[in-house]
Amino acid sequence: MTTVKEFTTPLKPTWCPGCGNFGMYEALKRALSELGWAKNEFAVVWGIGCHGNGADFLDVQGVHSLHGRALPAAMGLRLTRPDLNVIVEMGDGDGYGIGMGHFLHTLRRNPNMTVIAHNNQIYGLTTGQASPTTDHLMPTVSTPQGVLEEPVNPIGLALAENATFVARGFAGDIPHLTELYKQAMLHDGLALVDVFQPCVTWNHLNTFKWFRERVYKLEESDWDPTDRDAAFELSMSTFHDLACTPETCRIPTGVYYRREGVATYEAGDHSTAVPGWKRAEAVRDISAILSAST
Ligand code: SF4
Repeated sequence: MTTVKEFTTPLKPTWCPGCGNFGMYEALKRALSELGWAKNEFAVVWGIGCHGNGADFLDVQGVHSLHGRALPAAMGLRLTRPDLNVIVEMGDGDGYGIGMGHFLHTLRRNPNMTVIAHNNQIYGLTTGQASPTTDHLMPTVSTPQGVLEEPVNPIGLALAENATFVARGFAGDIPHLTELYKQAMLHDGLALVDVFQPCVTWNHLNTFKWFRERVYKLEESDWDPTDRDAAFELSMSTFHDLACTPETCRIPTGVYYRREGVATYEAGDHSTAVPGWKRAEAVRDISAILSAST
């Protein structure tokens, strides 16, 4: 078994003291260690942002890709190295902003990968501009009068695109987040874990204290994670804004929805929809194609 320490590089993290990234990477290392995944059994693909600096501090194989492009890079890896488990680390500005098109199309393909979103509701690395998930009317460096747009709802979007595992975590609860990661990593299909990751330097609204006063765990209620319609309704009715007080606003964490047994994209299995359909053999030797075109 690979230990948490063995998943840690000797480099000192450059995140601000108290940043939510510390808890998220601790949970990831614990999940990898507890699942007993060896370093040659999986790869991590990062986008760009404060979360992406984790590529320096996590001792694993992987790709630190471009801003917003972690998902297509991960898709290529998934298709060419089906022997590897694939984990994506992306940010809210990264994955839900410039990478939004990739996010939606990857969801509907259902590749077998775990997508972890560091959702700090701000652009941290570039010093505090409004991101796609910043709360409506919250003042930021780029929107001193408050954000005019409604924020993106990643949970609702994932459910709308038929994602087969949709969960939400909180960086301030490492044991719970570790369990969510383990479930997501064992899921056969696309698993999204959107994580509230407080940015202690630039987001002075959605702090650790703010979340601790509002979040609760779905598994401690009578929640049925197989009911997609109910999950969608929950994602809409509990979507928070500036008016969210601890008394009026409860924010669920845990597994909103999961559905097993759905064919993954890479399985290419159309057999249930097209009688007699057979998967074509993959073309490995392309020399004949190349010589015919010269
Ligand atoms: Fe973390 Fe925010 Fe600092 Fe980035 S700017 S390291 S997200 S606290």
